[in-house]
Amino acid sequence: MDECIFCKIAGGQIPVKKLGEDDHVVAFPDLNPQTPFHALVIPKLHVASLHDVRDPMLVGHLYGMAGQLARSNGFDVTGYRTVINTGPDAQQTVFHLHLHVLAGRRMSWPPG
Ligand code: 5GP
Ligand code: ZN
Repeated sequence: MDECIFCKIAGGQIPVKKLGEDDHVVAFPDLNPQTPFHALVIPKLHVASLHDVRDPMLVGHLYGMAGQLARSNGFDVTGYRTVINTGPDAQQTVFHLHLHVLAGRRMSWPPG
């Protein structure tokens, strides 16, 4: 997708500090972090949202990377939150699937 910002990040046209990468996904810091650690994990292939996923393994790859990030940063001990916002009520703003990985402070529940 030519105009998709996360496709440009995945393709290297927009440089980011990569926190992790494999054949399927890339992880990088969120521009506007909501917690001391706030990463986004995206598929390299453009998929607009969770309900556009055709191969469920793709979601497994996102969560696999989230787990790696959590372990390598010590959040497997303190805890972390993974979030996929889908559609208007969840306030999805970027229409390239992304998994938020939030950690580094005590969070409240339920979300606002
Ligand atoms: P959403 O609300 O769609 O779940 O989250 C989109 C996230 O992408 C937001 O947390 C926002 O800060 C982040 N974001 C938007 N544009 C960019 C960007 O160009 N670079 C990075 N690193 N994050 C972005
Ligand atoms: Zn895209």
